[in-house]
Amino acid sequence: MDLNFSEEQIIMRDSVDKLMQKHAPPETIRKLDREQAYPYELYDVWVEAGLLKMPFPEQYGGLGGSVIDMAIIAQVLSYHSADLSMAYGGSIFCGLNLVRKGSEEQKRHWLPKLLSGEIKFSISMSEPDAGSDIGAMRTTARRDGEAWVINGQKLWATGAAARNNFINVYVKTDPSAHYRKGMSLFLVDNQTPGVKLRKLDMLGRRCTGTYEIFFDDVRVPADHLVGGENRGWEVVLSGLQVERVTSAAGNCGAAQAVVDLAVQFAKERKQFGRPIGTNQAIAHMLADMQTEVEAAHTLMWRAAWLVATGKEALREITMAKLFASETYAKVANLGMQIMGGYGYNMEFDMQRHFRDSRASTIAAGTSQMQRNLIAGLMGLKVA
Ligand SMILES: Cc1cc2nc3c(=O)[nH]c(=O)nc-3n(C[C@H](O)[C@H](O)[C@H](O)COP(=O)(O)OP(=O)(O)OC[C@H]3O[C@@H](n4cnc5c(N)ncnc54)[C@H](O)[C@@H]3O)c2cc1C
Repeated sequence: MDLNFSEEQIIMRDSVDKLMQKHAPPETIRKLDREQAYPYELYDVWVEAGLLKMPFPEQYGGLGGSVIDMAIIAQVLSYHSADLSMAYGGSIFCGLNLVRKGSEEQKRHWLPKLLSGEIKFSISMSEPDAGSDIGAMRTTARRDGEAWVINGQKLWATGAAARNNFINVYVKTDPSAHYRKGMSLFLVDNQTPGVKLRKLDMLGRRCTGTYEIFFDDVRVPADHLVGGENRGWEVVLSGLQVERVTSAAGNCGAAQAVVDLAVQFAKERKQFGRPIGTNQAIAHMLADMQTEVEAAHTLMWRAAWLVATGKEALREITMAKLFASETYAKVANLGMQIMGGYGYNMEFDMQRHFRDSRASTIAAGTSQMQRNLIAGLMGLKVA
């Protein structure tokens, strides 16, 4: 296993970091978080810098980057803000589904618009009664001439109300079939008549935002169906490896940011006439935090390397997602303890990590569901 980055990858990592320092300094991130505002200007900066192009094939205007490149970008973006990086992830993951499962005509139509920032993508599967049990979804689409008509309700859709966003919505097109055989993916302009969005009041990730969506007789052109009728589950599976590795990379980056903040604080904050970091209780907590973050990185890079070299990696990817998300939540909790009252104060960044990190063990499959999957791969039957 080669865990060295190429020279180009190091340059890319450093330039994305510089770009974030310049366009999303801590005060900007705090302001966006306070105002719960979508990072439109930053998204445009990403587009301008070619970040949206990175993982897409060159024939569609992309830069042909690998899953390792994506993991590097996710790690750096999330180091600055796990919330803001969700805006990037939504467009990238959905765009890659199109590359894998869209028709040639669809790729030529949608990808240039996505890569140039003209449109964005977000994903919507979850419903009030269908979270971990995605098969319980009730939103449907029925064919009506040259269109499909969608009815139902979705929940927890990240970034769904962004300007010029097309919601990648999974619905039942054959409600009588098992969801693996009766679900389809549609690209729905969030301004289509009949689409109603409500921003939810969430603990964290308040900028990209989490939405409830109502679909009331929403007419969608037939060519907005991606991957074929009743083939939605195949689309979901096709993207699972890259998505989970990238999401693990994001959590690793955010967890490292927490450790760096806590170490800096422990060196500067003096009580009893000396830095609090000179107390073994604090120093050991920080040593454990850094060790766990390193372990999360190692699992993640191993999974990324397996995916990049075309090897079967469901077990490693699932472990990487589980461990990285739990590590982010764990170190943010400890980081707050280390910072005392400052950690709990809204003028410091630890509370944002504390809030944003809590979503990481829930979204994109809960920790319990990851453990179920790992146990299943170990030959254990989990009810
Ligand atoms: C901030 C945020 C952003 C999100 N963004 C999106 C998005 O963009 N698009 C989208 O479609 N969804 C999104 N989600 C939804 C997310 O995928 C779901 O919340 C998640 O799948 C869990 O579903 P649920 O919330 O309904 O919880 P439930 O499935 O009801 O689970 C509740 C609890 O029961 C446990 N549980 C359930 N079943 C089992 C089982 N079989 N074994 C063991 N434990 C079990 C769970 O682990 C959890 O602890 C987002 C969620 C959050 C919090």
